[in-house]
Amino acid sequence: MEVEFIEKDENKAVLVLKNVPVALVNSIRRAMMSYVPTMAVDYINVYMNTSYLFDEILAHRIGLIPIKTDVDKFNFPDKCECGGEGCPRCQVSLRLNAEGPKTVYSGEFVSDDPETKPVYDNVPVVKLYEGQQLMIEAVARLGIGKEHAKWKPVSVCAYKILPEIRIDEKCNVCRDCVLACPRQVLEINDGKISVRDPLNCSMCMECTNVCEENAISVEETDNYLFTIESVGSMPALEIFRRGVEVLMKKAEEMNKSLEYI
Ligand SMILES: [Zn+2]
Repeated sequence: MEVEFIEKDENKAVLVLKNVPVALVNSIRRAMMSYVPTMAVDYINVYMNTSYLFDEILAHRIGLIPIKTDVDKFNFPDKCECGGEGCPRCQVSLRLNAEGPKTVYSGEFVSDDPETKPVYDNVPVVKLYEGQQLMIEAVARLGIGKEHAKWKPVSVCAYKILPEIRIDEKCNVCRDCVLACPRQVLEINDGKISVRDPLNCSMCMECTNVCEENAISVEETDNYLFTIESVGSMPALEIFRRGVEVLMKKAEEMNKSLEYI
């Protein structure tokens, strides 16, 4: 498998995976969405809530706020020495104490661990009016997307086939294909039709449908364009690396169990 990077930002990565079966590409996608651990608020303790929102709605909203942390520093509660009761090695408390009138934002949480805090300070939590008060403790722990979507590290994690577009000598440069393509993949260059942007092709086949000479073909390949967008809790490429690691570990476990058959 070859990997070619098209875009490498902190929160977004676009890469091409070459010569790889689609089943493996899809397994990497699923591993990234469902098995890469992140930190999210698991439950809240409400000491005072005179806002217009019910405790349950607040808890749901706070659970979806992306949290940044060093995930290797923490244990999963069920694998922690505390036996899942909760200790500084498996959970972090974030406290919020606010009084209206004001809009309460995610940046107002005070965390027990300075490294574990909301990724963005400007996520609205609740609007408090005159005399309304909110006093809560939100308890965050490690989890995986398979358990609940709030632990998913990605907001976008998708791939598409990179097609091979061929134009043969039957082409009479009528431009019908260039005009028919809704994504401007084709262009006229030096009096010939050429492929300007193959990454943008969605294989809608409009170009082959309008070509009266049957001079253009769009075929599937074993190359895939992969787009990963992080919610901000860890860099996009780290999610990719961890997803592949999870998959490798699962394959090793499979191999070990096969030895006993
Ligand atoms: Zn613990």
